[in-house]
Amino acid sequence: MKIHIDLDCFFVSAERTIDPNLKGKPVGIGGRGDTKIFSHKKSRQFLNLKNSGAFVPAYFFEHQSSKQNDLNKFIDPDGRIRGMLTTTSYEARAYGVKTGCTIREALQLCPEIIIKQPNMRLYQELSYKLKIFLQERIPVMEQGSIDEFYGDLDGWVDDKDVPQFIDDLKHEALEVLKLPLSIGAAYSKFTAKMATNDAKPFGTKIVYPHEVDAFIKEKPLKDFPGIGRRTEAVLLARGLTTLGEIQKHPNIFLHSTKSQKELYERVCGIDKTPLQQERERKSIGISRTFDPEIDRKELKRCVIILSRHLSHALIRMNKHPTHYTVSIRYDMNQKGNAAITINRLFSEPFLRTTLLELFEQADIYTNLKVIRIGLSCSAFTQSNHHTFSLLEYEEDTKRHRLTQSTSSLREKYGLDTLQWGGEL
Ligand SMILES: [Mg+2]
Repeated sequence: MKIHIDLDCFFVSAERTIDPNLKGKPVGIGGRGDTKIFSHKKSRQFLNLKNSGAFVPAYFFEHQSSKQNDLNKFIDPDGRIRGMLTTTSYEARAYGVKTGCTIREALQLCPEIIIKQPNMRLYQELSYKLKIFLQERIPVMEQGSIDEFYGDLDGWVDDKDVPQFIDDLKHEALEVLKLPLSIGAAYSKFTAKMATNDAKPFGTKIVYPHEVDAFIKEKPLKDFPGIGRRTEAVLLARGLTTLGEIQKHPNIFLHSTKSQKELYERVCGIDKTPLQQERERKSIGISRTFDPEIDRKELKRCVIILSRHLSHALIRMNKHPTHYTVSIRYDMNQKGNAAITINRLFSEPFLRTTLLELFEQADIYTNLKVIRIGLSCSAFTQSNHHTFSLLEYEEDTKRHRLTQSTSSLREKYGLDTLQWGGEL
């Protein structure tokens, strides 16, 4: 059988491992666009790559260990409360406070709610510990996200022993890691994921093959982990409103495209989709959303700061990109993009210059305000010099080495160590 493991209100549970006072109380983790990296004040930001893979982005984090309500961090100087909640404890949910609520709404529904700032470093560390914990107990694993894992138990645990196995796993994880989780089990990983949802919080649920029909019969389309808003609209337009109705209409799907056929089999729990084990990272990017900004000089300063962070991540990952992209979003939702492929050994000055040039190309509406900038690098290659342009190779190698030593300093003293002139 395949199992799906999902941490219960993970960010809140993580905070509770370091602050037991939060136990049993309504707690919400607040989020707002992290624009701290653009601050003129130096902060001690670090990069965590330990747990990052194809599914988990690399995070830049700041050391923090506050043990109080962080609500004031979400109040602007003008007294406005900003930000929304990314995770809520079950105690908060009892008041109707849900993920996606604004902090203002949350306070109206539940005035005693404790708001915490996210502490990505802690979450990454705990997620990594859970991954190691699970790897020691399950041979074939897939990480779905920071708080979600799949395991394939075939040939490892007999079907009849699965109930005991997942119940033990749940209790052991709570004992060892102090983290509550829920587990679903089924023949298909998609059915297992839906079962986890039903099992929450701190529960287990198995859906045997003969139970799938009844299990999906009344489930709304959006409960299926593969039906997004777009597909939902298409299916609704065809008069299909539940997963059970999809199951009753194989003719619509089985003679259609490969992905339609796949969707049908997955919904019915008869697919054989294997778990995807660790994949190599194919790209890395960094982006930030901020208050609308018209000043191009300030925007370029942001590009320089973002590229410094990106450069550090590339050095840490020992990756040599050959494809670079800059994307811009304007406040009326227009978009600008520019990309380039260059076979040069990367260094921080090279990255900065390249991304600044791409920013200028991507910035097609120079009279509009910008609300988001994204930089990304991909098409990684070996540092083998045959790949790179020989003309600049010697100079590039020198710069690359300099970037490496700069990064080791930043590793030690924080990412704001050694900034560029243009950032100030
Ligand atoms: Mg979760």
